[in-house]
Amino acid sequence: MTNTSPDQACADAAALIAQADGLVITAGAGMGIDSGLPDFRGDQGFWRAYPALGTHGLRFTEIANPRAFRERPELAWGFYGHRLQLYRRTVPHAGFGLLNKIAARLPGGAFVFTSNVDGQFQRSGMAHERVVECHGSIEKLQCLGDCGEPTWSAQAFVPVVDEEQCLLTCPLPRCPRCGDIARPNILMFGDRLWDSVYADQQEHRLKVWLARQRQAVIIEIGAGTWIPSVRVFGESQQRPLIRVNPGESAVGLPRDIGIALGALDGISRIAAALDAL
Ligand SMILES: [Zn+2]
Repeated sequence: MTNTSPDQACADAAALIAQADGLVITAGAGMGIDSGLPDFRGDQGFWRAYPALGTHGLRFTEIANPRAFRERPELAWGFYGHRLQLYRRTVPHAGFGLLNKIAARLPGGAFVFTSNVDGQFQRSGMAHERVVECHGSIEKLQCLGDCGEPTWSAQAFVPVVDEEQCLLTCPLPRCPRCGDIARPNILMFGDRLWDSVYADQQEHRLKVWLARQRQAVIIEIGAGTWIPSVRVFGESQQRPLIRVNPGESAVGLPRDIGIALGALDGISRIAAALDAL
């Protein structure tokens, strides 16, 4: 649909969801911005969030990289440790709760497919077994040396970070089997050793659930084209798609709906339109 006002598009989206039996929520980095989480797109935006990494001239792709954990573990863990603490204390914005409410109206409920590693959907009350984290989770750890130890929970690890230097000042987390450095169970750049076992299991669950939904609708929120995993997944499902994105809302098919709004605004207006039906 083109040239549709956001209000009309939200009303169309609500009508589509009202007829659905299940909702697939696909989400990228734009989902977290309204909770106050930083967006790492572009070197300047990244270095504003992490000035110490700018001082080292390190780009996001160079620190979000298994090599960084081998070569400068305190710095790599300074970055990820800070994020871990940030995500733990972040309260998911109201849009998460609204999505949970919308899901509760549908017979099949909702399933989440997200590239975000921040665990915000689970924190908002979405059941763990209904969330696919296609790039992994910051709340899980794996062995940097790939010794065969399965991933384990990061819950016991409370990082202490010198934010000015972006350096971990407490002991590095270690693999319980071999003692090598532990790294987040997150798919990084140039990462051939990411342990995808858990993500694969979750994706299998999603496929089984989706096969039972006759009229599932996909709502894609804040998923850009820079790292397109979320878009590619949603577009490959051959189900009607609602795209909520302030800058890249264009959709490919006439049945799909593009809404040029941020996450919280878009979700709120769709929820209000559903209530008005
Ligand atoms: Zn190990």
